[in-house]
Amino acid sequence: MADLKVNEIRIPDLIVDGRRLETATTFDVVNPATGRVFAQAPLASRDDLDTAVAAARRAFPEWARTPIDERAAAVLEIAQAIEAEREPLARLLSAEQGKPIHGGAAGEIMGALVWARATAKLRPVVETVRDDDTALVQVHRKPLGVVGSITPWNHPVMIAVWHIMPALIAGNTIVVKPSSYTPLSTLRLVEIANAHLPPGVLNSVAGEGGLGRAIAEHPGIDKIVFTGSTPTGRSIMASGSANLKRLTLELGGNDAAIVLPDADIDAIAPKIFAKSFGNSGQTCAALKRLYVHESLHDQLAGRLSALAREARLGPGDDPASQFGPVQNRAQFDFVCELADDARANGGRFLVGGQPLAGDGYFFPLSIVVDVSDGTRVVDEEQFGPILPIIRYSDPEDALARANANENGLGGSIWSSDIDAATAMAQRLECGTAWVNDHATISPDAPFGGAKQSGIGAEFGLHGLDEYMQLQTLRIGRG
Ligand code: NAD
Repeated sequence: MADLKVNEIRIPDLIVDGRRLETATTFDVVNPATGRVFAQAPLASRDDLDTAVAAARRAFPEWARTPIDERAAAVLEIAQAIEAEREPLARLLSAEQGKPIHGGAAGEIMGALVWARATAKLRPVVETVRDDDTALVQVHRKPLGVVGSITPWNHPVMIAVWHIMPALIAGNTIVVKPSSYTPLSTLRLVEIANAHLPPGVLNSVAGEGGLGRAIAEHPGIDKIVFTGSTPTGRSIMASGSANLKRLTLELGGNDAAIVLPDADIDAIAPKIFAKSFGNSGQTCAALKRLYVHESLHDQLAGRLSALAREARLGPGDDPASQFGPVQNRAQFDFVCELADDARANGGRFLVGGQPLAGDGYFFPLSIVVDVSDGTRVVDEEQFGPILPIIRYSDPEDALARANANENGLGGSIWSSDIDAATAMAQRLECGTAWVNDHATISPDAPFGGAKQSGIGAEFGLHGLDEYMQLQTLRIGRG
């Protein structure tokens, strides 16, 4: 498959044990801007998965023994190699995911580089909890073994980097499975990285959810890091129980933002717009429910609608495009369904609300008002370009409604009174709480979900810990 070119795109291979793995068959990859198949990706069989896991197991002891500074040097080399190839990688990412090359895809790759380089600086902590006449007691951290990484279709390169780099730094070996909707950019990432790693340290397989389930069940895999929907996270937890797999589950979100009566509309409107509609709303921690005090509701809804009206949707390879399509047909249909349901329940679209004509999965940036909790577009994660705005009169009531959702990924409070907003933000039931911001993350601060939004956290030393086993070492004295 190495020579197969479709529209100038070379289809990346599966890499297992440092070599290209020939597969018996392939599967379709669709361009969401056209709705048409544009490439064939290699499809891994269950035997291929066994081969990949066996290679990762063989490579583990040596990689775990490799000094951490050498492992970090490899991560930095990989970052360098990705940077050298950032343009073709951005094109590939855009073709399969839909996000515009400039800004969207190129931005994702630059973000992945920032994360890779920051992760290379992390060193596991050795804690001394006792050092006296009776004993020296320390807490060390050891690699876990083979990590299975399962990723979604919204940020395929970035999220693969979030999984792979800390696993490498910690001394684990890896089998990666990207979403079957967006396999190519991740497979290319693994190809690039393999030039800087010993064989078997980083392996790739590709296929649908059944292959993901086989990874979650595989007895040769010690840990799963999964980013995706909450139902799949539950399934992985069940599948992984047989060998007590360690789990990091980064799951769905339905983040609420509460705009307090003293918020500065001019300052917050462009930020709220960007944090709601970035990647066409297909971001786990996007702002998905906007609670606005009645005194500001109409004004803010008007401002956001004006910004949405100006937005330019289009195919990823058009430099004029600011926003791309919904990534896949099923998600597109779901977004259309939520819009219909909102309308049927009294929702009023100030902008958008109907899919665009044509074969691609384009749904305009949409703002719906006169909806509230109890309507699907508010209660369910849209994961698409619809923002519901909910009018409230009592901030305590808005906070209670924000917290009433089963998700708990992020949340935000918007106000000119930072102390009051901070106090309220700390009462949000979620993994990250923002004040006058939303969905901004950094590689040194843990990011993870509360409630049904996940288990564990990524990034920084807390994230690194998820790839390591604690070992208490006690040296008796006296
Ligand atoms: P998904 O759960 O449908 O699929 C994610 C991955 O899991 C894919 O690779 C898929 O093939 C695989 N999979 C499917 N069924 C499986 C099974 N039974 N066992 C193992 N693997 C299986 O999610 P998606 O639709 O690709 O992504 C969108 C979701 O991801 C949204 O809910 C979004 O909020 C969430 N997300 C969360 C974060 C976060 O950090 N919390 C980040 C990005 C996306």
